[in-house]
Amino acid sequence: MLKLTSRCDLACDHCYVYQHPDQSWRRQPRVMAAATLRAAARRIAEHAAAHRLDAVRVVLHGGEPLLAGAAGLAAAAGELRRRIDPVARLDLRMQSNGVLLTPRVCDVLAAHDVKVGISLDGDVSANDRHRRHANGASSHAAVRRALALLRRPEYRAGYAGILCTVDLANDPVRVYEALLAEEPPQIDFLLPHANWDRPPVRPDGVPTPYAAWLLAVHRRWLADGRPVPIRLLESLISTAAGGASRTEAVGLGLADLVVIETDGTFEQVDSLKSAYHGAPATGLDVFRHRVDDAAAHPMIAMRQTGLAGLCATCRECPVVRQCGGGLFAHRYRAGTGFDNPSVYCADLKELVHAMVGTPAHAPARRQGADALSRAVLDDLAGGRGTEESARQLASVHLGMVRALLVALSPRAADDPVAAAGWRLLVDLDVAAPEAVRVVLEHPFVRRWAQRCRDGVTGDLAYLAAVAAAAAIRAGVGVTLDVPVRGGVLGLPTLGAFDVSADLPTARLTSREGGFDLAVAGRRERVRLADPPAAWQPARRVRAGGRELLLEDVDPYRDCYHLPVAPRLADADAARWTEHLDAALRRLRGEADGGYAPAVGALLRAVVPLRPDPAGRQRSAAAGAAFGAVAVAPAPDDAALAVLLVHEVQHLKLDAVLDVCDLFDRADERRLTVPWRPDPRPVEGVLHGTYAHLAVADMWRSRPGPAAAAAYRRYRDWTVGALDALLGLGALTTAGDRFVGRMRDTLDSWS
Ligand code: SF4
Ligand code: SF4
Repeated sequence: MLKLTSRCDLACDHCYVYQHPDQSWRRQPRVMAAATLRAAARRIAEHAAAHRLDAVRVVLHGGEPLLAGAAGLAAAAGELRRRIDPVARLDLRMQSNGVLLTPRVCDVLAAHDVKVGISLDGDVSANDRHRRHANGASSHAAVRRALALLRRPEYRAGYAGILCTVDLANDPVRVYEALLAEEPPQIDFLLPHANWDRPPVRPDGVPTPYAAWLLAVHRRWLADGRPVPIRLLESLISTAAGGASRTEAVGLGLADLVVIETDGTFEQVDSLKSAYHGAPATGLDVFRHRVDDAAAHPMIAMRQTGLAGLCATCRECPVVRQCGGGLFAHRYRAGTGFDNPSVYCADLKELVHAMVGTPAHAPARRQGADALSRAVLDDLAGGRGTEESARQLASVHLGMVRALLVALSPRAADDPVAAAGWRLLVDLDVAAPEAVRVVLEHPFVRRWAQRCRDGVTGDLAYLAAVAAAAAIRAGVGVTLDVPVRGGVLGLPTLGAFDVSADLPTARLTSREGGFDLAVAGRRERVRLADPPAAWQPARRVRAGGRELLLEDVDPYRDCYHLPVAPRLADADAARWTEHLDAALRRLRGEADGGYAPAVGALLRAVVPLRPDPAGRQRSAAAGAAFGAVAVAPAPDDAALAVLLVHEVQHLKLDAVLDVCDLFDRADERRLTVPWRPDPRPVEGVLHGTYAHLAVADMWRSRPGPAAAAAYRRYRDWTVGALDALLGLGALTTAGDRFVGRMRDTLDSWS
C-alpha cells in the first residue's frame, strides 16, 4: 500500500487516518516526493525479483490519492510500471473517495491500467452519516458522479469495486441495494475500526448487532443469486469449505501487506492506527531497508504464523479457521496488546455459525484470477500433474460455469422459459446443491452458456433444461416449460426425449426417479429406471474402474470441428465401453507414464466421433467443453490411451488459461512447428507442446524400438518448440515459468 498523499479533501468522522489515536499523519509530507516514489518502486521490484514473484499488487492510497492530481498520478503509475513490470505482473490499484475523479484522471488511470475502488457507505443518508466535507457538506453526489464515470464503457475495466463501512444506524438491505445500483464488480464491507479499549457502538439488549446487520445482507444476497461478489461473505463461505480467505478481516491467511508512507517509512497495516499512537510504525524506510526487512519486523512476522500467532482463546475456538481472530487491529487492549480475540468476537462467531447453517451455494459470479496457486501451476507444468491439481482445475471450471450463468441471468429475465429456469436453479442451488453441481459440471453446459454469451445461439431457454435436470436429479417436484429443439427435448446429464412434434416447449413435471411430460395434448411418464422407447438415456458406462459418460445424445456435444457420431446402437456402445475400459486400465498400469490420476480426476465424458474416411486417427478437445474428449474408434487400446491422454492435456491447459495469462494475447506472431504444415500462433504452440510432452512421456515408458522411435520424435518436436517459445518474448512471467518447467521435465529425461 503506497501512501501517495497524506491529506484528504473529506473529513469523515469515522476515518482511521485522522480521527483515531495514531496521529502520525501530521508529520508526513502532503505528497510523496519523486525521489521517495523512485526508492519505493525500486524496493518493490527488488523484492519481486528476489522472490521470483509472478505478480505484485500495489494500491495507491492516502489520505486521498486523487489529491496528487492527474500529472502526479501519471508520474507515480508510470514510475511503478517502469520499475516493476519487467520483473513481475503489476496489479496496480487505487482506493479513493472518488470526489475528485474526472474524465482526465480516468484517462490517466486507464492509460496505466490502474483499477479503482471507491468508498461509499450506502444511499445519501447512510453515506453522509460520516462521509462529509470539513464544512459538513454532503459528498454523496460527487461520489456517485465518480461511479457513473467508472461505469462508462471506456473506463469500466478500471472499476474495481466499492468499499463500505458498516453502521448499525443504516438499514442493511437499503445499503446493499444502494451499492448494487452502482453495478460494482465487487463489494466489500468493513466493520468500523474498534478495539477492547474503544469498543464499537452496541445498542442495549442486542448481543450481536453486527452479525445481524451482515446476515440481513447475506440473506438478501443469496435470494438475489449472489449477483456480485461480497468479499467478506465469499471469504467466510470459502473458509467454511476449507478454502482461502480473500480478506485479512477473516481467515488464517498470512499477512502479505506492508504500507509505504508518504515519507518512505515502512508501516504495518494502517488499520492499526485505530489502536494507539505509533502502533503501525516499524522504524524502517525504503531508503535504507528492503521489503524483506519490513517482513521480518516482529509484529509482521508474528502475523505470518497463522494459528500459532493467535491468542489462546482463538486457538481453541471451533470457528477459528473461518474467523481467524478477526482483523488484527480489532484485537487490541492496553496491557495485553494484540493477544486477545477480536472485540467483534461474539458477532464473528454468530456470523460464521449462521452462515454455515445457511446453504450458500447460489451461483457465484466469477472465479478469481488467482484461482490456481503457484504450486499447482508448477505441478501441472511438469506434465502429468497430480490428482489434486486436476481437481483444482475442475473447480476452476465450475466457477467459470457459474460466472457464465450469472452473466446470462439478466438476459434470461426477458424470456419467460429461461427466467423460470433461472429462478428454479437458484432455489435448487440452496436446497439441492449437489444435484446442481453435477449438472453444472457437465461439459456441454458451459459450451451452451458460452455460445449464448457470445451470441452464437439465442437458446437461453435451455436454462430451463439445465434446471429441470437438476430438479430430477434432486427428486424435487416442480413443473416448468422446457425447450424442444428439432422435436427433441434434451436434459443435460440425463438424456433426451423424442417428442416427435414441432413445438417450442413441453411442460415437464419432475418427481422422484423421473418426470412427466405434457406435450401436444398427450401425457408421457418417464421412469428413468424403466423408460419408454422415446427416451434416450445418457449412457453411463464403467470404464477403467469408474463411471464415465459415453456421450452420444447431448445436443451441444457437436463442438469439435469434426463430425460427431449419431446415437450409437447398443452393440456399438458395448464395443466402445470395452475399448475405453481397456485403454483406461492400461493407463493405470506401469507402462504408460503415470497419467491415470489426472485423467481419472478430469475425464467425465467421451464423445464418439465418426471415423476418418482415410483411416487417420481422430481426436479432439474443446476448452468450452471441459471434462469431455472426442475420439473416433482407434486401432487398439494402446493408441486409444495415447489419444485420451493427449486430449486431457489440452483440457488441462485450457483450464489453466481460463484463469492465468501465460502469453501476450495481442502478440500475433506465428511459429513454424514440426507437427503441422502451417505456422501456429503462440497458444497453438503452447497446446501442442503440452500435449506432446505427455505423449513423449508415454512412449518413453513403453518397451521396444518402435516406442523408442516415437519417443524420440515427440521429444525432439517438443524441445524445439519449447525453445522457440522461450526465445520469442511473448510469454508472461507466469508463462516463462510454466514453459521453463516443461523444458525441465524434458531435460530430466536425458
Ligand atoms: S475519504 Fe477516506 S481518508 Fe478521507 S477522511 Fe474519509 S475515510 Fe479518511
Ligand atoms: S470467534 Fe472469537 S474466539 Fe473464535 S476465532 Fe474469532 S475472535 Fe477468536
